[in-house]
Amino acid sequence: MTDNSTVNQKLHHQILIIGGGAAGITVASQLLVKNHQLDIAILEPSDKHFYQPAWTLVGGGQFRIEDTVKPEALCIPPGVNWIQESAVKLDPDNNTVITNQGKSINYDYLIVSPGIQIDWHLIEGLQESIGKDGVCSNYSFAHAAYTWEVIRNFKGGNAIFTFPATPIKCGGAPQKIMYLADDAFRNAGIRNQTNVMFCSAVGAIFPVPAYAQSLLKVVERKNIQLQFKHNLRAIRAATKEAVFDVTTDAGIEQVVMKYDMIHVTPPMSPPDFIKNSKLAVADGAGKGWVNVNKDTLQHNVYGNVFSLGDASSLPTSKTAAAIRRQAPVLVENLLALMQATPLKAHYNGYTCCPLITGYGKVIMAEFDYTNQPMSTFPLDPREERYSMWVVKRHILPWVYWNRMLKGKKFEGDALKIKGWKPV
Ligand SMILES: Cc1cc2nc3c(=O)[nH]c(=O)nc-3n(C[C@H](O)[C@H](O)[C@H](O)COP(=O)(O)OP(=O)(O)OC[C@H]3O[C@@H](n4cnc5c(N)ncnc54)[C@H](O)[C@@H]3O)c2cc1C
Repeated sequence: MTDNSTVNQKLHHQILIIGGGAAGITVASQLLVKNHQLDIAILEPSDKHFYQPAWTLVGGGQFRIEDTVKPEALCIPPGVNWIQESAVKLDPDNNTVITNQGKSINYDYLIVSPGIQIDWHLIEGLQESIGKDGVCSNYSFAHAAYTWEVIRNFKGGNAIFTFPATPIKCGGAPQKIMYLADDAFRNAGIRNQTNVMFCSAVGAIFPVPAYAQSLLKVVERKNIQLQFKHNLRAIRAATKEAVFDVTTDAGIEQVVMKYDMIHVTPPMSPPDFIKNSKLAVADGAGKGWVNVNKDTLQHNVYGNVFSLGDASSLPTSKTAAAIRRQAPVLVENLLALMQATPLKAHYNGYTCCPLITGYGKVIMAEFDYTNQPMSTFPLDPREERYSMWVVKRHILPWVYWNRMLKGKKFEGDALKIKGWKPV
């Protein structure tokens, strides 16, 4: 249902959700499953809803881009008011959100889930060059299909894959597409004419040591060059050069590399309207993200505000899988708060990154706040498996549209690996 109220009209909802993406829709659905009489509104400007985790498969030629999108109208749960505008200002002292069309929406409870902001503009020359002459990125619906065009038509040379210096959504995605590209180059018989390079602004391949060890074996097997502390700053499309700030013991030096194709993972940050609001972490770790308690997901200052998903300060890897576990915790705690009872549900930081290491191969990297491997399946999660490829390629998209967004339960708890020792 679209709310076509006039500009500046005052509105009130019992629960207001900012953002109708993976987190906003999942939470709205779960709330209604618990109590269908709740008055819920979702503020969401887009008329489309995207299944972003499949964009890696699109870039690798394994999924059609048109199968990653549905009309938002079909995702908003029946009974929820859809206000098709965006939040531009937050006034938590007055329980109010101001929209881009000047509406002032009042709430009893607020859930903040507008996702992460992609800062394409922070790489000089990227906005002008993306989508042509070998410059691609899976981090947008508009460009993911072009990645496959580049890989499919590649004739050899330098193939560069970047990772920025900021938090990003799905920390594994920048390297997953590289492993698919490597396989595609081998299948095309051009791998021996190709240098595959992973240029990362950070100093490790993955934050969880157990999975990093598995990935380093993949990198070695595939003969991929790792270039750590390489932060992409500019694309010079005319000369097909990528400019990196490289951190060395002596300081930062500029390094220019020729590319024949480059897959860019752009820098990302909290949405500006969050950064500039009283709901953001003011300083230190998590600065700019919505300031929530990492266990209960309740705001640390404004008790009637909650957050989950990519925009939250939750110190875990930003994935849709993490939202699957955050949403029930938020819902239970919000309903407890509404009944003035203690907030008992706790989130353990669970997240999951299906690390595609080639066609038909996935390491199902599940972990929590302690960075220890976990597994939903009775299998060692560090191994590359065809079964996990089937889960990633065929099962998870179905689960997302048909179970998660509908507020339905569909999986057991991932268990910590008994006796696990960090390696
Ligand atoms: C290439 C790629 C690969 C990925 N791979 C995986 C994977 O394998 N596994 C996995 O679990 N996750 C993966 N992810 C991450 C996953 O898609 C995100 O973590 C998840 O979508 C975050 O959900 P969210 O609701 O926080 O944000 P989103 O789903 O991005 O939704 C945010 C919503 O808020 C809306 N919005 C923005 N600004 C405003 C505003 N001002 N006012 C109102 N609404 C606003 C947006 O229009 C959007 O609909 C991947 C992502 C990408 C891009």
